[in-house]
Amino acid sequence: MGEQRIGIGYDVHRLVPDRDLILGGVSIPHEFGLLGHSDADVLTHAICDALLGAAGLGDIGTYFPDSDERYRGISSLRLLEEVRRLVLDAGYAPINIDATIVAEQPKLAEHLPAMKEALGAVLDLSPARIGLKATTTEGLGALGRGEGIAAMAVCLIETA
Ligand code: MG
Repeated sequence: MGEQRIGIGYDVHRLVPDRDLILGGVSIPHEFGLLGHSDADVLTHAICDALLGAAGLGDIGTYFPDSDERYRGISSLRLLEEVRRLVLDAGYAPINIDATIVAEQPKLAEHLPAMKEALGAVLDLSPARIGLKATTTEGLGALGRGEGIAAMAVCLIETA
């Protein structure tokens, strides 16, 4: 068995009007969307950081700074694709991912299978190896007031 390493990722983005809500690469009908330089896909960003962290490669800000015009409005799935390439180049392959989205609104359960498909396609990982959950903070704090959405992710990688 090869060397196994784990990584953790966490991200938060603010919810604002007049933006699309993209989570796990899936466009979700909602009156607000996440604010950010890219498409602000908070789930995909957390997964990117988990993968990079596991491989000891820093975080997505290292590779895709929000000062870089090339990444304005970019699909975060493209960033994930690049992160996968960096991890593979470092000699590792993803084994599984588990993630939780924290959002008071909208309800996300029905969209989770599509997110698994989209993320799995980019990572060349079976959707069965991607765990996704959605929860709320029971109305507590900024996330509970619907001011933003957070996501946390862990991943396991193994020497390829
Ligand atoms: Mg982010």
